[in-house]
Amino acid sequence: MAKKQEEMCSFCGKPQSQLQFMLSGHNAHICNDCVERGHEIVQKEMKSNPVFQKGKSGTQPKLNLLKPIEIKKHLDKYVIGQDEAKKALCVAVYNHYKKINHRAETTVSDDIMIEKSNVLMVGETGTGKTYLVKTIAKILDVPFCIADATVITEAGYVGEDVESILSRLLLNAGGNAEAAERGIVYIDEIDKIARKSDNPSITRDVSGEGVQQALLKLLEGTTANVPPQGGRKHPEQKFVQINTENILFICGGAFEGIDKKIANRMNTKPLGFKSLKEETVDINEENLLQYVTAQDIKSYGLIPELIGRLPVITSLNPLDKKALRQILTEPKNALVKQYKKLFELEGTELSFDDEVFDYIVDNAMEYKLGARGLRSICEEIMNDIMFELPSNEQKHFKLTLDYAKDKFEKSKYRSMKVA
Ligand code: ADP
Repeated sequence: MAKKQEEMCSFCGKPQSQLQFMLSGHNAHICNDCVERGHEIVQKEMKSNPVFQKGKSGTQPKLNLLKPIEIKKHLDKYVIGQDEAKKALCVAVYNHYKKINHRAETTVSDDIMIEKSNVLMVGETGTGKTYLVKTIAKILDVPFCIADATVITEAGYVGEDVESILSRLLLNAGGNAEAAERGIVYIDEIDKIARKSDNPSITRDVSGEGVQQALLKLLEGTTANVPPQGGRKHPEQKFVQINTENILFICGGAFEGIDKKIANRMNTKPLGFKSLKEETVDINEENLLQYVTAQDIKSYGLIPELIGRLPVITSLNPLDKKALRQILTEPKNALVKQYKKLFELEGTELSFDDEVFDYIVDNAMEYKLGARGLRSICEEIMNDIMFELPSNEQKHFKLTLDYAKDKFEKSKYRSMKVA
């Protein structure tokens, strides 16, 4: 009589006699060792993308969400000031992901549709708009990409441009379409696609409006066929469908000159501002951007439909000397800290005379370079020493005001000043 064949683990092939126990399924068995190993692999995969955990329905990924106050606490470590913008952003991202989580948890659709809270940030260039969004995406660990509104064409909706934005997002999501669909896209220079007149019936400035329409589709929610590797270089690649409904769009722009529109609306022009000013609480005429409303954005030339898709409007303050000095020295990855780290890697301790910071900040203000200029000024000052350092055995380098002045005054900025 034929001996009954011993059952084996369908994964590792070990016979039952050598195992503690085995689970049996349809035409297959799995031993306790393989279950454990499989669990480890799943955990590892989940850890490599800790943001997404399975929701109750088992189909939708769920975000491990921080509360607005916690998000802001993290942001404060990197971004100086801009409290109003930070708060607006924290609330917007929190509500957005909370809505997504809620959907992931419920299998039955309920009656109340929570609309997406895309954000519009208004603030001079170099005040930290991009940096804020980038940092928030990093804190939440969601895929993120930056797009420039000026490169979007009218045909963008079906053309390459909109897809290339999503393609970049997909790439940053490690090719995971589900993660990309819950990412954040920052659209810079949104002010540059404003139509010239806010009266569409007189002169239809299609150049701006057409692009705004293309953008509108993206913000409203559309499904696009996205080449996973970007561009059209790989004709054989399969397209990935990306739905933009759950992508959070944050738009930013300097909206140069909008302060005049705000002043007009608020009636704070030199002639005749008094009557209103007397009635209202202190209007800070130095920083009118903080009073920006949807009405001002409309009169600047964004179409109402697009403004309607950007319900959260917030502004960033211009950076003064104090803020620039803080940016230079205080945040977790402040420039000064970065240089110290670079020197440390060469075995050299770098220290700065305190006046050097003021000198750098004063020049950034003088040349109207803002926060972005801090880096280029530092590079001008540090370049020579960074060139020499790897070849000498210096244990300590103190950057004095005289040294900084000497290097900076020989730099290209000096010639800008002479000109
Ligand atoms: P914007 O998008 O408003 O033009 P960015 O976000 O690109 O400006 O800012 C340029 C750089 O300046 C950032 O990468 C960051 O290093 C620095 N920066 C600007 N604003 C701040 C801030 N408030 N706190 C810390 N760093 C800042």
